[in-house]
This record gives sequence, C-alpha cells and structure tokens, in this order.
Amino acid sequence: MKDFALENELERLKQQGLYRSRRVIESPQAIRIIIDGRKVLNFCSNDYLGLANHPQVIAAFQQAANQYGIGSGSAHLICGHSTAHHALEEEIATFTGRERALLFSTGYMANIGVLSALLGRGDDVLEDKLNHASLLDGGLLSGAGFKRYLHANTESLEQKLKRSKAVKKIIVTDGVFSMDGDVAPLVELANIAQQNDAALMVDDAHGFGVLGQTGGGLVEHCALTQADVPILMGTFGKAFGTAGAFVAGSNALIETLIQKSRPYIYTTAMPAAIASATSTSLELLINECWRREKLRTLIMQFKQGAKQLGLSIMDSNSAIQPILVGDPQKAVAMSQNLLELGVLVTAIRPPTVAKGQTRLRVTFSANHQTSDVNSLLNALEQVS
Ligand SMILES: *Cc1c(COP(=O)(O)O)cnc(C)c1O
Repeated sequence: MKDFALENELERLKQQGLYRSRRVIESPQAIRIIIDGRKVLNFCSNDYLGLANHPQVIAAFQQAANQYGIGSGSAHLICGHSTAHHALEEEIATFTGRERALLFSTGYMANIGVLSALLGRGDDVLEDKLNHASLLDGGLLSGAGFKRYLHANTESLEQKLKRSKAVKKIIVTDGVFSMDGDVAPLVELANIAQQNDAALMVDDAHGFGVLGQTGGGLVEHCALTQADVPILMGTFGKAFGTAGAFVAGSNALIETLIQKSRPYIYTTAMPAAIASATSTSLELLINECWRREKLRTLIMQFKQGAKQLGLSIMDSNSAIQPILVGDPQKAVAMSQNLLELGVLVTAIRPPTVAKGQTRLRVTFSANHQTSDVNSLLNALEQVS
C-alpha cells in the first residue's frame, strides 16, 4: 500500500479539520447517551420520534426473533421473504396511499437500486444539488446523463429539462433536505414533471414520521398522490427508529424493481424481526400524533431562542436545525466545547456540505423536554 500515500492524505485531512472519527456509544439511542462513561444530552440523532428504544418496538423485535430467528437466511427472491416482511410492505403501501411497496435493506441501497433499475445510457436524471449522497451515487451509477439543478430552484430545473433530449427522464429530490432541513418545492416539481413527461422521485427519509397529519411526510403534507410522485422512497432508520428502507409506487414499478434492481436481488433480506419491529413503530408513528406536535413545539422554542442569541440558523422548520459556522476547525472546536458542557452536537463538514458551509447540525426528538432545549441554548451561548 506504500504507493497510495495513505498516511499523507490522512495527515492532510487532519490539518484541514476534515478528519472524521467515531464516538463509541455505550447506551441505547436516546436523549441522554453515554460516551466514555459520561452521560451527555444528545442533539444529533435522527431518531426524531424517540422510537429507537421504545419498549413496544423492542418487544415486537424480541417476539419476532423468537418466531423467526435472527438471520433471514437469503435474499428476498430465494427464501428470505417472510410473512413479517410481506405484512410490512402491505402496511407501508396503505400508509403511503400507493399501490405497493418494496423493502430494501438500507436507504442507500434503495436509492441506488431504483435509479439503476429505471435508467441507463441515453436517459437523463435531474437532481437537486443538495440531494443525499445515495441519490447522487445512484444517478451516477445508472449511466444516465447526470444533471444537477440549483437547490430547490425550479427555473434551473426547467432550463435543464428544456435542453434534455432523453426520452426517459427522472427528476430526483430529497423531501426534507438532510443537511439543511428545508423542504423541496414538491407541488411545483410535480407540475414540472408532468409538463415535461418526466417521472418524479422523492426521498423523504427525514419527512416520514415528522411531517403530515399521520406522519406520511412531505407528500402527505402537500397532498400529492402516486400520479404526482410516482416514485416515493423512505427509510426506517430515522423517525421509525429501526433500520432499512422502502420504495412505494405502482404495481409495475415494484415488479420492475423485483426483476431488475440489483441491490434488491443480490443481498440478504433484512432480519424479519426488524420488519416486525418496524410494523409496530409504524403504528406508533401514525397514532401517537403527540410526538409530532411536541417536536414542533421544541423546534419553535429553539428557533426563537437561537434568533435571540444571534446564531445563524437556516431556513428550516423541520427537526433538522443547522447553525452555519463556515470554518471547519472552528465548528469542530465549538462541537468539542459543547461536549465538554455535556451537549452532543456534531459538526458537518465538506464533502458532506460545500466548502465554507460547515455547520453544527442540531436535531430534535419528541423525547426532548423544554428544559433540554434551554440547556442547549445556554451551552450554545457559552461556546459562540
Ligand atoms: C439517511 C438517508 C438515506 C440513507 O438511508 P439509510 O437507511 O441510512 O442507508 C437516504 N436518503 C436520505 C435523504 C437520508 O437522509
């Protein structure tokens, strides 16, 4: 490996404040987690509804583990597709108001799986500049013409569409953007897609559970049907508090993915117990509206407090509330100082965000209390 100059590259990352390292968590995912034997207040989890460690979800997992064992034994198409998986697919189809749904082992795989099954050379994929890495990678891997339009900018998208000569075109966007917390202009995007004979794919990993009357995400909030958004994707690792992902849409879409999506076909099915636990979190997510309402109250409290402190928060009403810092070294130092005060907030640096866009990414959970938000604001005041 000598010629790869790995050590030099690692050293360069360190000097630029771009070196990444993992924290070892010694407790369940929760509002207070234990790091190095010390309890800290957690503001960086995507467990927005506090379901990752919910007793009913754990019980469903345990019961299903007793019934199905742990490993699913093979891919879905061989002998790994259990009644628990099948039931969850049907529940997700009903929940999203789509004809059918298909499970994937991770959201990353779902996005790569959809785009490379539907697109190839000669087609075009049009992506928002700030789309999640898995959508960008999926677009690139598909071999289609890869066009990125300016963030949430419908004029930029329309320009690119006008220039496209491809017959098959897919417009791809995050619902709630993962690093900015703002939302895509979905109603306009759906209209533009229809006018231009393009399909629209929405990845609402951060919207499901949080937005919409029943937690149906941005498409529910905007009342968009399968005809408007024919390819709808969501993940279970965030508000659902479990793991895995789904794609929902027409029967023909789902059958095409079953036949052609390599990350669906050539991988072991998620454990049945995960599917079963997810069915239970789906029920909680739909029925316990108080989680969404509480989250909204906490977000409003934070935004108001942050404005008073003069922090440069971004234009977001979601559970993702980034504070723009700019310089990576400064953001890392702030994050370190916050940790010393017992508050965990991570710095998000390039290449996850653009140069000069380094930020502290604060996320909220329905399990936070008003007093927790006050503790966060106090700590932020001290380190700013
Ligand atoms: C987290 C995330 C994914 C990836 O999902 P995993 O299940 O964690 O692989 C995809 N898209 C978006 C927008 C995400 O935030």
